[in-house]
Amino acid sequence: MLFAPHPDDESLACSILLQQAVHARAAIRVVYVTDGDDNPWPQRVLERRWRLNATDRRRWGRLRRTEALAALRVLGVNGSAVRFLALPDQKLTAMLMCDCQSALERLAAIIADWSPTDLVVPSISDTHPDHSALAVMLRLVLSESFSASSTTERMGVWTYTVHGRSPAFFDRAKAIRQSQPETATKLRAIRCHKTQLKLSRKRFLGYAHRPERLLRLGADDKIIAEGSIVSISGLPHSLRVEVRLSPKTIRTSEPILFVLGRNEGGALRCVTMRVPARSSSVEMVDPASLDRVAMAQYRGNAFIGQLTIPLSIFSSAHAIFVKLERRSWFFDEAGWLDVSPTPDGQVAELEHRATEAGLLAIH
Ligand SMILES: [Zn+2]
Repeated sequence: MLFAPHPDDESLACSILLQQAVHARAAIRVVYVTDGDDNPWPQRVLERRWRLNATDRRRWGRLRRTEALAALRVLGVNGSAVRFLALPDQKLTAMLMCDCQSALERLAAIIADWSPTDLVVPSISDTHPDHSALAVMLRLVLSESFSASSTTERMGVWTYTVHGRSPAFFDRAKAIRQSQPETATKLRAIRCHKTQLKLSRKRFLGYAHRPERLLRLGADDKIIAEGSIVSISGLPHSLRVEVRLSPKTIRTSEPILFVLGRNEGGALRCVTMRVPARSSSVEMVDPASLDRVAMAQYRGNAFIGQLTIPLSIFSSAHAIFVKLERRSWFFDEAGWLDVSPTPDGQVAELEHRATEAGLLAIH
């Protein structure tokens, strides 16, 4: 069972996998979470119109569904294996942080109904915010609706990355071998997404020659901090997040730290904190409770700061996720980090590998 945030992710990241699954006569199900309907630039160019309303977006979404079905046909997957959920394109992060309980229940029902042996889902390290948000939703679903059930014991969960170069993913994921005919078929599948080739032809076709990689969830879950988060450490009742904002990559908007978890009552809570790059010290307030939830203190270098997040508003029985949002265009600098407490309530110390990987400029 493959979860794709948008029509085209199946072709870009899982064409070889799907061909090999078809060859092995595996039963296949592909679930498209959005229709990719909020994709204005190619639509403006292809339809030669500037203003796009809801009807225009629905038409675009239908076109993208047709392209996805054509691509799957090329890969040998029948249209009857496909489900479209039509969740809001480009808004999965907003949904995750505001109101995703009904979506989580829907995702849980789909997985329980099909009961796959292998589940293939986006990585939380993907830099497309829809991809990483869906990854967090699916982690919540798996840990809450399937934990310790017979389904998870039998089910392998594999993650894939379409966007970004996350060391947390790429250092550990395994590449799938691909033959020349499989590569040629992958190229034909990608070409079915004509709307996407319009403005990104070279980048899209390039995916055909890049090995597909999968990382099994649970295989090596040591968390690696990425992007501007240098380290996260668990104090007795709080998380300390050290951020280092490289002036070279200062974006136009202020970075925002998101912390997501469940409260003692089981309701999802997301705390949002602006991280001003230049002030010497700042307090942040959780608008829901008006508790002071974090304090950022900038040391001599204005771009190094520590955020202390009291964990009292989150239940240690549930997963906790952290993301520092610094967008450039619509891509993130890095995805979410799963800082879920261990069974004894401790939050693991995270190490940062980006420095070695040359992703972080330190001044
Ligand atoms: Zn996508």
